Amino acid sequence: TLNGSSESELLHDKFLGGLLKPGFDEGSCVSRYTQSLLYRKPSPYKPSPYLVSKLRSYEKLHKRCGPGTKAYKKATKNLGHDDENYASKSVGKCRYIVWVAVYGLGNRILTLASVFLYALLTNRVVLVDQSKDISDLFCEPFPGTSWLLPREFPLMNQIDGYNKEYSRCYGTMLNNHAISTNSTPRHLYLHILHDSRDEDKMFFCSKDQDVIDKVPWLIVKANVYFVPSLWFNPNFQTELMKLFPQKEAVFHHLARYLYHPTNQVWGMVTRYHDAHLARADERLGIQIRVFSDKAGYFQHVMDQILSCTQREKLLPQVVSQEESKLNMSKRQKLKSVLVTSLYPEYADRLKNMFWEKPSSTGELIEVYQPSGERYQQTDNKLHDQKALAEMYLLSLTDKIVTSARSTFGYVAHSLGGLKPWLLYQPRDASAPDPPCVRSTSIDPCHLTPPSHGCDADWGTDSGKVVPFVKHCEDRDNDGLKLF
Ligand code: GDP
Repeated sequence: TLNGSSESELLHDKFLGGLLKPGFDEGSCVSRYTQSLLYRKPSPYKPSPYLVSKLRSYEKLHKRCGPGTKAYKKATKNLGHDDENYASKSVGKCRYIVWVAVYGLGNRILTLASVFLYALLTNRVVLVDQSKDISDLFCEPFPGTSWLLPREFPLMNQIDGYNKEYSRCYGTMLNNHAISTNSTPRHLYLHILHDSRDEDKMFFCSKDQDVIDKVPWLIVKANVYFVPSLWFNPNFQTELMKLFPQKEAVFHHLARYLYHPTNQVWGMVTRYHDAHLARADERLGIQIRVFSDKAGYFQHVMDQILSCTQREKLLPQVVSQEESKLNMSKRQKLKSVLVTSLYPEYADRLKNMFWEKPSSTGELIEVYQPSGERYQQTDNKLHDQKALAEMYLLSLTDKIVTSARSTFGYVAHSLGGLKPWLLYQPRDASAPDPPCVRSTSIDPCHLTPPSHGCDADWGTDSGKVVPFVKHCEDRDNDGLKLF
């Protein structure tokens, strides 16, 4: 036994309660099985047996339809040749959804998980755009096949140009009354971005899904976590309830199933963790994202962080040397604070603060920040690997403070099964009061969701359609989130 756990308990943890399939080569992707075993506390969220069985059947489907199979060949044959009689041609039995890598890494991680869940719900096969650095970041998740979209995919050269104006964009087709039940296009483009129109968001309604379901190829560009809005579709809702009886744990489970950092990234995670975090009695994560044209260090953001962490008793105050009545014979508790930010100044100030003066509680506070890259460099391999390593490091902390509407922060807390303290977005260059709010859910927020329900619920505030899909705490009557 290790730490008093029985062998079967350990095995249960190793495979995350059945979420992961045994049998992968361990050395080529060390994080897959060791992550939970050596670095994570057991999650209070358990995957349902139904989710586990659904994943196993998905894996079979992917193997049958994935790249290199007869089915894939058949499905891609003549794709992109604009022949309006395509509906009559046999395209095989497999249907696909292609995820295109756009926007920052946090956005990508949230949207790929959303697309995967949609694929699970609709029996599609998810394929991943590999033109960016995805395979430098993550191992293959499905056994005996690949999730990478082959580079020779017939529409590959066009995908970059897909946008709302594209004639096969679903919202545009609705606008143009170009949807007809007797001719199903071979492919459709779905635009699920911050600038989606009401028509694009009709995607979430069940009538529209009946049409979309027949299309063999869906190509998606998304930059929002759209899972909460899938619950508006009654068919999906029934299935989702069975898959996720603990509703707020959707991303938590999907992320632990899908995402296994490559050895390169995992090395960065474990070296940093072992050197700076492992020995601490408690770990606090603080993710600082500044959304502003002139981003960088702002005194009001620093004030906000201090005010939040002290009010919520996440960090002690500092006192003068004379005031500190430290009993030196008692062992001092060590708290490690992991700060992630593009800017090093915030962590530097915290570090100095706790070096210059003692803490009121006598705790020792160590402050660490792995990188300070200054500006976003998406698609630069090492930059993205650092960003990913930092999201994982944050997810291994005990308590976490994150910045409002940052998908980087959403990934970190949800992966870790943590309910974050969300720092409100500052307005007018001053620290908001209150500075932060404790979330009551671990799931990420769907920024820019549909503003109203479908069909009968049309016109109803979308935060009032489904009882457990509500507006996000960090979004002021906007955004949708599972509670
Ligand atoms: P969001 O913009 O906060 O929603 O998060 P994204 O991850 O989608 O995009 C921000 C990108 O900026 C990240 O992917 C990184 O490339 C970079 N970035 C932002 N904050 C950090 C940070 O704390 N650490 C690192 N290493 N990179 C960051």
